Amino acid sequence: MKIKRTMLFYRLTLILCIYCLLPALNAWVQNELVEPEKKLDISFYRRPDSKKLKMTPPRLKPRNVIFLIGDGMGLGHAYYTALKIGGPTGRLHFEKMPFTGLVRNFCSDNLTPDSAASGTSLATGIKTKRGMVGVDQNLKTAKNIIEALHENGFATGIISENICDATPAVYSAHVSSRKQKDRIADQQLQSGIDVIMGCRFKPWLPKAEGGSRADGRNLLEEAKNKGYQLVSGKEGLKKLDGYRIIGVFDTLSYTRKPEVSLEMMLRAGLQALSGSGKRFFLMAEGAFIDGGAHKNRADIVMYQTLLFDMAVKAALEFAVKDKHTLVIVTADHETGGFAVLSGKPDSKEPETGWLTKRHTASPVPIYAYGPGAEMFTGIMDNTDIPARIAALLDVPAANFPQIR
Ligand SMILES: [Zn+2]
Repeated sequence: MKIKRTMLFYRLTLILCIYCLLPALNAWVQNELVEPEKKLDISFYRRPDSKKLKMTPPRLKPRNVIFLIGDGMGLGHAYYTALKIGGPTGRLHFEKMPFTGLVRNFCSDNLTPDSAASGTSLATGIKTKRGMVGVDQNLKTAKNIIEALHENGFATGIISENICDATPAVYSAHVSSRKQKDRIADQQLQSGIDVIMGCRFKPWLPKAEGGSRADGRNLLEEAKNKGYQLVSGKEGLKKLDGYRIIGVFDTLSYTRKPEVSLEMMLRAGLQALSGSGKRFFLMAEGAFIDGGAHKNRADIVMYQTLLFDMAVKAALEFAVKDKHTLVIVTADHETGGFAVLSGKPDSKEPETGWLTKRHTASPVPIYAYGPGAEMFTGIMDNTDIPARIAALLDVPAANFPQIR
């Protein structure tokens, strides 16, 4: 009996010792396997000489440009959506575009931008701080591509599911903060942009009429006096008259197909602008991919990417028929650090992962089709994009950086 008790005591002591020593043992093994990071000698590396790699001029130049921005859409968002639809060999419309590249999007105060800073770079070719719209970090106004094209006789348009938000704002306004939505709306009205279509027009309307303006102005009424045709609803799109249009549509839901989708707005915008007899530039934004990613909701990301892809389809159909229109698809930044982790090749239910509920600094993809599309390959900075568009459209690019 006594021996048994002694044995039990020894066993318990042994178990206790192992239990206490286990974390230390684990830490020792880990240290043995994974050394802490240290400064490695990389003096063998030679940086590339950019002067030796000059870009070849494009074979053909476009008459018109359709520029589509998927807010927050990284490679993971696109690949996940394509997987859900067609498995690993499936392709979205924009993934079938023949020229692709990657865009870096750091801003003045951070490696990771918001839509205002990255959009300002896409629209004006300069870097700025987060939250700023169409101005540099010292609040100096920077001319955007739409203003440069206007001066050169182009017809222009902006379409967004969130018309006073940062992305459409950078093409139509210059303010120190994206929160100044009343001022953004006012500048949009004064911008002379021919087609302004989308949802969430509250900053265009006074509070008394369901809007958010404190000054009591009704900018939609003022737009009519400026000669714009005001349209709304599905029926309204069928009655387009001329090319100076303001289209006001219902606020979209994250998970329900709207009565008037981005695709329908884009088709209407193209009808109006191509009927103007002028060359044109049209920017269209899929605004809610970003929102789905902020919630880490893969289902919303897929749904919104598909809605965006249908707008790309409409743009490509126009360009294929027209033969003189360049279509560019890109994103302002990546949201969520979203990735497909694993899954069976024949499965449309891959395992996914998120790094964050915020934006990341990951480069975003760019896709191009049409005359001049070969200018949008390789690794670019987001400020290169308006410079290349301006060069392709033969618009003086004094305000834009030199083509790198
Ligand atoms: Zn965001």
